[in-house]
Amino acid sequence: MNRVEFTKEMKKTHKILVPMMLPIHFQFLQNIFRQNGYQIELLQTKGQQIIDEGLKNVHNDTCYPALLVIGQMIDALKSGNYDTDHIALAITQTGGGCRASNYIHLLRKALKQAGFGHVPVISVNFSKLEKNSGFKLTGSMLLRLLYGFLYGDMLMWIKNQCKPYERHAGASDALVQKWINNISEQFNSLSFLKLHHNYKIMLEDFAAIKRENTPKIQVGIVGEIYMKYAPLGNNELEDFLIKEGCEPVVSGVLDFGLYCLENTLIDHEYYNRSRKSYRFVAMASRYIQHLQMKAIKAIRQQGVFREPDTFQEVMESSEGIINRGTKMGEGWLLTSEMVALIKSNVSNIVCCQPFGCLPNHIVAKGMTRKIKNIYPNANIVAVDYDPSATRVNQENRLKLMLSNARLTARFAQAEEEKRAAAKQQAYAYETR
Ligand code: SF4
Repeated sequence: MNRVEFTKEMKKTHKILVPMMLPIHFQFLQNIFRQNGYQIELLQTKGQQIIDEGLKNVHNDTCYPALLVIGQMIDALKSGNYDTDHIALAITQTGGGCRASNYIHLLRKALKQAGFGHVPVISVNFSKLEKNSGFKLTGSMLLRLLYGFLYGDMLMWIKNQCKPYERHAGASDALVQKWINNISEQFNSLSFLKLHHNYKIMLEDFAAIKRENTPKIQVGIVGEIYMKYAPLGNNELEDFLIKEGCEPVVSGVLDFGLYCLENTLIDHEYYNRSRKSYRFVAMASRYIQHLQMKAIKAIRQQGVFREPDTFQEVMESSEGIINRGTKMGEGWLLTSEMVALIKSNVSNIVCCQPFGCLPNHIVAKGMTRKIKNIYPNANIVAVDYDPSATRVNQENRLKLMLSNARLTARFAQAEEEKRAAAKQQAYAYETR
């Protein structure tokens, strides 16, 4: 299909619409692109009409994230809020074997069918798949994006340890917003040294939020990347868990980036592929992990919040359970994330499964039995997200999982109390 290119002139005349996936990280992304001369807007719309547009314009066998993203874009174009002669759309292409590489062709087909064939679609990829003369990810933009995502991961991680416990509703979200603005203003002068300084003050700021002390049930969220992070995809799962009195535990998105890099190294090891690039990839992976360690050390030094696992720890968690050659969709990473959560005592896990996603059904639902055999205390629920699934059904499944979690927590507490009473009795007997 002939594609409409995003030209240099369009950079001045066109607004680029981007579907929202990570509410914190994508605000950094938006600010970085704006600072580099792009007019960019994040699509934050929701509602049944998005699913309807997806169903109307995409084959109904297509995986649910593709259906939602394309539906959201066409819904925006039809909304009357934009001059469609001056609009472009941006979408990522992973370059892997999964459908995420082919969304762009589905989107172009859908646009043509809906009467928007003239709207240019920009592919954001790191695999030299498609180029547009008006869109270029420069070295400095990539570095800023890396920093933006490092800060995004830190903010998401700490926010989830504050929001469920905050005494004044909205305090954690307000602080997140303050830090997004603060860091965005520093993008011209970001450096490795500043990272440590910023983390320190950021952690102090969050530690100062007035919080309840009563511990809550922790629930890990894993799944296909869009379903795991996008509130539109998972029906605002984090907020639902907080409303139910739980603490969501969501690992950072940079682990997914590292997983993609690691797969290149695995390809080299298994099939002798990527002979030219593997040294560079290995170096990039080490550098990102080194930066991630900065965040972990800062949290550890401060001592108020729980630190996340290192990428090495996550990766090694699934050894002997799934082979690292399994790398379609979220591949071995998804299984590793579930095991890493259980190992760090977060045994209640929601696995977000999109309709039509074969790879993630294998590495998520398909691995549950194996994981439960090794870790019998694992309380994993796979929730299906598809165009016909109702929110009520999904929430009922979640509530069932939570009632199991509460039962286990009560049982553990009763056992603990029994042990403490027995100890006290023994002590009283000895000292009589
Ligand atoms: S991982 Fe699954 S849901 Fe995500 S793009 Fe691939 S097939 Fe679709």
